Amino acid sequence: MRYVTFEHGGRVRPGLLDGDGVSPLLGCRTLLDFVRLAEADRAAVLHEAPLPLAEVRLLAPLRPHKNVFCVGRNYLGHAEEIARARGTELKLPPVPTFFTKAPTAIADPEQTVHFDGALSTQYDWEAELAVVIGTRCKDVSEADALGVIFGYTCLNDLTARDLQQLHGQWFKGKSLDESAPLGPWVVSADEIPDPQALQVSLRVNGVVKQQAPTAQMIFSVAAIVASLSRGLTLEPGDIIATGTPDGVGFARTPPEFLRDGDTVEVDISGIGVLRNAIAVGAPVTAPA
Ligand code: MG
Repeated sequence: MRYVTFEHGGRVRPGLLDGDGVSPLLGCRTLLDFVRLAEADRAAVLHEAPLPLAEVRLLAPLRPHKNVFCVGRNYLGHAEEIARARGTELKLPPVPTFFTKAPTAIADPEQTVHFDGALSTQYDWEAELAVVIGTRCKDVSEADALGVIFGYTCLNDLTARDLQQLHGQWFKGKSLDESAPLGPWVVSADEIPDPQALQVSLRVNGVVKQQAPTAQMIFSVAAIVASLSRGLTLEPGDIIATGTPDGVGFARTPPEFLRDGDTVEVDISGIGVLRNAIAVGAPVTAPA
C-alpha cells in the first residue's frame, strides 16, 4: 500500500495511491489520524472512488506533532568522508548518534524549498530512508523492532553546514523551515520486508551525488528502533530518519552546496522519488 496526503479542490485529505488513482480515506482527517488507529481498525477504514493522480497535489504524507528523530553518521562511507573533510580520526560510533529536526521543517514533495542566502552559504543535501512508527512502544527488542513500523518513505535532511558547526549542537542547522522534504508517499512495511536491502541515491540537477545500499548502515533500522526506544516511548506517526550515505556536498573536493535553481531528488528503491527545487535568496516570511 502507498499512503499519501493530497490536496484536491482546496481540501487536504489522506488517501491510498493505487496506480494512477488516489482513493480518499474515509473517517480520517489526516494520515496521522489513520496511523494512530489500531491495526484492525485501519483495515476497516473505507475509501472513496479514486481521483486521478494527475488531478491532485501530493503533500508531505505526515505532519508530525513532534520533532523528527534523526541518526547522524550511520553509513560507513559517510563517517569516513566526514573524518577526511574535518581532518579528524575515523572513529565508528558505539551507539547511534541521535538528533532531531523541528516539525516545522517538513516540506512537501515537488515544492520549491526556499532558503535565506544571507543566513547560510552552505545548504547541503542528505538522502535518507525514513521510518514511520505504527505502534506505541518502549524498550523494543531488535528482534521485534520491524514489527512496530507502519511504513517507509524518503526524507531529505537538508542542512545548513555553517550553522550546524556554529551552534555546537546540530539542531539549528538541521531545522530551518522547509529543510525536511518528506514523501512522496509512505510505503507500508509489508511491502519492505528487509529495509537493509534498499538502494538510496540522490541527484542534483540529474547528476548522481549519493548512491549506496542500506546494507551499509552502521546501525540497522531494527537496531536504531531498539536503541531509540530504550527508556523512550515511540508513538504512531513518529518519524525516524536513518542517516545518509557518503557523497554529501561539504565533504566533496572541492565542497559543493545547493544553489538557487537546483533540483534535488532523493530516490529509494521500492519507495519512489522525492523531488524539490531549491531557491536560495531573500529571507522567507513565516508560514501562515
Ligand atoms: Mg542526516
